[in-house]
Amino acid sequence: MGIIIKSEREIAIMRQAGKVVATVLGILSEKIKPGMKTRELDAIAAREVIRLGARPSFKGYQGFPASLCVSVNDEVVHGIPGERVLDEGDIVSLDFGAIYDGFQGDAAVTVGVGEISPQAKKLMKTTEGALQAGINAARPGARLGDVSSAIQNYTESRGYSIVREYTGHGIGRKMHEEPQIPNFGLPGTGPLLKKGMTIALEPMVNVGGWETRVGSNHWTVSTADGSLSAHFENTIAITDAEPQVLTAL
Ligand code: MG
Repeated sequence: MGIIIKSEREIAIMRQAGKVVATVLGILSEKIKPGMKTRELDAIAAREVIRLGARPSFKGYQGFPASLCVSVNDEVVHGIPGERVLDEGDIVSLDFGAIYDGFQGDAAVTVGVGEISPQAKKLMKTTEGALQAGINAARPGARLGDVSSAIQNYTESRGYSIVREYTGHGIGRKMHEEPQIPNFGLPGTGPLLKKGMTIALEPMVNVGGWETRVGSNHWTVSTADGSLSAHFENTIAITDAEPQVLTAL
C-alpha cells in the first residue's frame, strides 16, 4: 500500500473532519467535572458528532464498544467509558475520532477534573510539549525518525518516559494508514516526509516507567507500575511551509 499522499482538496476535507473532532473534545473538556460517570462523556461525544454532520470512528472499530476512549490517571489509552465516577484531582485522557465526507480526524487531550496536583499539571504540559516538538519536526525533507526522536528527546530530557508499545499513524480515508509513527527512534532514519502526507502524532507520557499492560477487558491500557499517564494527539498535514494541524477549531 505505502504512504498515501493527499491532494489539497482531500486535505481540506480532512480539515473539516478535524474541526469536528476538535469541537467535540472542546465541549467534553468544558463539561467534565467531579461526580460525572465516564459513560456520560461518551454520550455527549456520540450526540455532538452527529449534530456536527459526522460519524464516530471508534465505535465498532475492531469491536470497540464506544465512540470515545476515556483513560483515567494510570490508564494510558483505549479506556472504555462506563460506570466509573470521576473524582476531583483525576486526569482524564479523551481520545476521539470522526469520519466526515469519507475522511478521518483523530485527536486526544488530557484534562484535569476540578483542581489537580502540580505533578499532574507538569505531566500534561510535558506531553503537550512533546506533541508540539513532533509537529515542529514534521517538515518535507525530514525523515520519520526525526519526528520520533524529537518526541522522545523532549519527553526523556524532562525526566518522563514515553510509551513504546503504541504509536502514531498515517491517517486519511482510513483511521490507521501507513506509516506507523513510534514516539521514540533515531534521527535520520525511516521514510522521507513529503508534502501531502497526513499523520496523527500521539505521544503517551508516563511519570514512571514506559511499560504498559492491557486490562481484563482486553482494551484498557494502563502503566505497568501504576504511575500517572497523559496523552495528546493531533492529526496534521505536511506542507511546504509550517505543518498544518487539521484537528483544530
Ligand atoms: Mg490515533
